[in-house]
Amino acid sequence: MEGDEEFWDRQDRLWPGFRERVKSMTAMVVGVGATGSYAALFTAQMGFKRLVLVDPDRVELSNLNRTVYTLKDVDEYKAVAMKRIVVERVPGVEVKAITKRIEELPKEAISADIILSCLDVMDARFYLTELAYRKGIPLFDVGTEGERIRVQSSIPPGPCLACTIPVELYGEIVGLKDSCTGEGSEHAPSGPLVPPIASSLLLYVVKRYLEGEEVLGTVIYLNTTDLEVRVERIKRNPTCFICSNIR
Ligand SMILES: [Zn+2]
Repeated sequence: MEGDEEFWDRQDRLWPGFRERVKSMTAMVVGVGATGSYAALFTAQMGFKRLVLVDPDRVELSNLNRTVYTLKDVDEYKAVAMKRIVVERVPGVEVKAITKRIEELPKEAISADIILSCLDVMDARFYLTELAYRKGIPLFDVGTEGERIRVQSSIPPGPCLACTIPVELYGEIVGLKDSCTGEGSEHAPSGPLVPPIASSLLLYVVKRYLEGEEVLGTVIYLNTTDLEVRVERIKRNPTCFICSNIR
């Protein structure tokens, strides 16, 4: 990796010691659509050595207003196109592209030091959360709804993503696409500005976690239209439909 030092020089000065901490780590990015495409690129640029990208969809022209994909990626699998983009941009990174839904993977394949959940459907998000929680893998989730952003972590033994959701609402919520509130059936797409902010916020939480800061149970809400930020601290819910059965 001769010559790579120049690539990392500024970041190493800004975040001394950080890259040393993550350069042997694997990050799994599940969903490389709007927020996930930025999250995958940012993760590599932060210095994670290995990335696993999971997404069954292909790039469409309509995705290009809010992702890092290019015109030549249209019709290519998102995971494959994202692998190319990351490898072309970041020296030394190893990327595995998986073009399947997360539910189609063997459970052993869900293995990483951290998982970034950038999905836009609630049932896949909860499936992944439960699996990661059982395996003790810290999961960081981002959801957007129009101009609103939510960032939340699910780190055993802290609260999981579902801890704020009453059991009786589970049936209604699974399958709905609003990842920010769990309400409504119409998922508002984001414009060009929300995904990079959402991904940055997500990765700042990851960075804080890796630096030993307390992020357990922290939920961050950012409404980009009025620039209002709200930070909530949630507790583990003893009747949670995901984590109450684990440990
Ligand atoms: Zn829970």
